[in-house]
Amino acid sequence: MNIRLFKPSLGEEELQNIREAFERSWVGLGPNVSEFEKQWAEFVGAEMAIGLNSATAALHLALAAFNFPEGKKVLVPSLTFSATASAVLYNRLVPVFIDSDPVTLGMDLEDLNKKYDKDCVAVIPVHYAGHPVPMEKLVPWAKERNLKVIEDCAHTAGANYKGKILGTWGDIGCYSFEEKKLMTTGDGGMMVTNEPKLFKDSKAMRWVGIDKDNWKTAQAYTTANKDALHWFYELNVLGYKYNMNDLAAAIGLAQLKKLPTFNEKRAKIIRRYLDGIKNIQNVKALLPFEPENYHYQMFGIRSEQRDDLMLYLKSKGIATGCHYTPLSVQPLFKPFAKDCAYIENEANKFITLPLHADLTFEEVDYILEHIKLFCNEK
Ligand SMILES: *Cc1c(COP(=O)(O)O)cnc(C)c1O
Repeated sequence: MNIRLFKPSLGEEELQNIREAFERSWVGLGPNVSEFEKQWAEFVGAEMAIGLNSATAALHLALAAFNFPEGKKVLVPSLTFSATASAVLYNRLVPVFIDSDPVTLGMDLEDLNKKYDKDCVAVIPVHYAGHPVPMEKLVPWAKERNLKVIEDCAHTAGANYKGKILGTWGDIGCYSFEEKKLMTTGDGGMMVTNEPKLFKDSKAMRWVGIDKDNWKTAQAYTTANKDALHWFYELNVLGYKYNMNDLAAAIGLAQLKKLPTFNEKRAKIIRRYLDGIKNIQNVKALLPFEPENYHYQMFGIRSEQRDDLMLYLKSKGIATGCHYTPLSVQPLFKPFAKDCAYIENEANKFITLPLHADLTFEEVDYILEHIKLFCNEK
C-alpha cells in the first residue's frame, strides 16, 4: 500500500491538447493562454482573468496593482502557505499576522479587528482547505476602513458562497494550478477581477513589461499591412517573467472541463471520511467541512497524538502532512508577528490525510480502519 497525500489526475485529453500546441509550434504565451483566461473568467463569473505561472505570482501582482506606498501593512492569516505573506514582502509591505477562528480555521475576525490600524492598506483572506471565510462580514468591514481585499483561493476552485463564486467577493481573486491543487497546469495561477482597470498594468507586469499579444504580433510580422512598426513596444512598467505558457494552458483547458467531476469526487471522499471518523474517539475533523456546498483541496483531522498517529499511518503506507506550521513562528516572518497564540498551539494537532480525485473508497476505508485501530489501542 502506498497512498499519496495529493495527486494530479491527468489523462489523454491533456495530452491531446498538448499535441495540438506542438502541431502549432507555439508553446509560449499565446492563444491557449488567452482561451484559458476567457474560460476561467466565465467559470468564476469575473470580468477579467490573467494567466500566470503560479498563484505566488498572482498574489505578488494583485498587491502590486494598487501601488501601495512602501512600508504599509497587509493583514494575512498566520495559518497559510508561505506565498500569501511572501507576496506582501515582495511589494515592500509589512505582513500583520492574524490568528485563526477556532472552528473554521479561517482568519479570526475579532483578531483582525484588534490588529487593524491606520497603516493597513489591504487584507488577504485565505479560504483555508477550501472552507469559505465569511466574506459577507469581511468585505463590508474592509470597505469601511478603505482596505483592499485580495482573496487567496489556492484551496478552492469554483465554489459558490452565498451567491458569489469565491474569488469574486474581493477586489482581486488568486487561484493556483500547482500540482497539488484542485486542478493543475503543472505550475500555474490565475488572477481575476470585476474591475478590469485594476489590471491595466498587470499584463505588462506579467511579461517583462510588454503589453502586447505575442501571438497576434507574430502573425502581424508576415501580414501585408501598412505597419512597419509591427516589432515596436514601449516599456512603461517594471515587468516580471510571470506569464503562463501555452503548454500549461493546454493542460488547464482540459483540466477545467474535468474540474466539476473532480470536485464531485472529492466531495464524496470527504463525506466518507466524515462518516467514518464520527465513530472514532479522540480524533475530529479539522473543521466543519460541508463537502456538498464547497470545494475542498484538503482534508484533515485534529488529534492529540499527532506524531504517534502519523508514524503509525506512515508504517501502513498512508501519506500524511501538516498544513501548516503557522507563518508567525517561521524564522522569516517571526520578526513581523504578534500574538497568534491559538493557532500556534492548535496546529500541532493537525494531520492532513490523502485527498485527490483518483483516491478510491477502498483506500479511504483502509485509512479510516487504521486510524480506528490506532485509536482503539491508545
Ligand atoms: C499553493 C498555495 C499558494 C501558492 O500557489 P502556487 O501556485 O504554488 O504559487 C498560495 N497560497 C496558498 C494558500 C497555497 O496553498
